[in-house]
Amino acid sequence: MALIVMKFGGTSVGNVERIRNVAARVIRTQQAGHRLVVVVSAMSGETDRLLTLAKDLSSTPNSRELDVLLATGEQASMALLSIALEEKGHPGRSYTGGQVRILTDSAFNKARILEIDKENILNTLDEGRIAIVAGFQGVDQAGNITTLGRGGSDTTAVAIAAALKADECRIYTDVDGVYTADPRIVPDARRLDRITYEEMLEMASLGSKVLQIRSVEFAQKYHVPLRVLSSLEEGTGTIICDEDENMEQVVISGIAHNRDEAKLTMKGVPDKPGVAYKILGPIAEANVEVDMIVQNVAADKTTDFTFTVHRNDFKKARKILEEIAKQLGATEISGDERIAKLSLVGVGMRSHAGIASKMFGALAEEGINIQMISTSEIKISVVIDEKYIELGVRTLHSAFGLESTAGK
Ligand code: ADP
Ligand code: ASP
Ligand code: MG
Repeated sequence: MALIVMKFGGTSVGNVERIRNVAARVIRTQQAGHRLVVVVSAMSGETDRLLTLAKDLSSTPNSRELDVLLATGEQASMALLSIALEEKGHPGRSYTGGQVRILTDSAFNKARILEIDKENILNTLDEGRIAIVAGFQGVDQAGNITTLGRGGSDTTAVAIAAALKADECRIYTDVDGVYTADPRIVPDARRLDRITYEEMLEMASLGSKVLQIRSVEFAQKYHVPLRVLSSLEEGTGTIICDEDENMEQVVISGIAHNRDEAKLTMKGVPDKPGVAYKILGPIAEANVEVDMIVQNVAADKTTDFTFTVHRNDFKKARKILEEIAKQLGATEISGDERIAKLSLVGVGMRSHAGIASKMFGALAEEGINIQMISTSEIKISVVIDEKYIELGVRTLHSAFGLESTAGK
């Protein structure tokens, strides 16, 4: 008897009819002879609705109370699914993160899972029931409710699968797998049968929000067989797994894009040792994460220092920079919130030359200016003007022939 963790996202439990469909799907899977743990997200739009209510009351809502509020979305879904299952003669038992005891650290709004108590879940399965767990939430050592960051139900599912050593973790969503690019932007994007953990990790961190990054990290670390598939249609979806020889022949697996970043530049900084540290030290102390960094030296021995941050941190980072600029004697600060990051991802890049030049050539032909570049072994990212991002994604998708041959 296999143990399977099934996770249903917000759209999949978005109304009563869909919850009924999920219940039917769960029952079919159980009848195929599996023991099941089902993780659910809040109904689509619910987390945003709750966030808006809190933000209407305060521009900086207390982070502990925000987690108490946001966790209610998933709590409603788990109870509704349990009711739907019982109505079809298959009783389940639902648990909040705190009731399972998904222990997390105390970083409200972005907590990390430390440990999962298996007892309640296993007892429920032993009684022949389906265990239903609220995604996205846990509890800290002091008993405070915590949440795991947007998209965190994926991580709940994979972490439970890892703790129980499940045979598979299935992420059911509104697309039938992981595609070569976001199918909402590239209509002829192609579903991948398989993708490596490493590539999925890059895709997720570069903006493909089909899976939360941490869920992929967990899956890779604990070797959880992970599959993304549609909650509406039958199908085999996409398997996320370790690399095998076959996969190395594919040069580019996918294209990711991200509109969440903003760019800051400090101009005319004296070019001396320690400057980068003086600029980025205070930014890090303010808990602002920096992504790409570029430093150019001009003929007059000054340098322009440019970096990107999350768009939500733009104003905070700019304020800090203005202070530092005075101390360093920099001539100017400029910023741009209308940028986007466009990335090519593929393990095959390791053994193929000329990918970057082909990428830059394709963008140049469309007149898309590249503002910043960063590379790693299996990805190349560029920062471009946000207004060209969709064109950029489509241009690269066709330049690398992803619609038909998966980048071979
Ligand atoms: P859920 O509510 O089920 O968690 P999400 O909205 O978090 O669903 O994730 C699914 C969405 O991810 C899809 O609707 C799709 O638009 C988007 N997406 C972005 N990049 C990709 C990709 N490469 N492959 C598939 N989906 C992608
Ligand atoms: N409900 C949460 C969100 O909207 C968590 C999730 O759906 O995974 O981000
Ligand atoms: Mg999601």
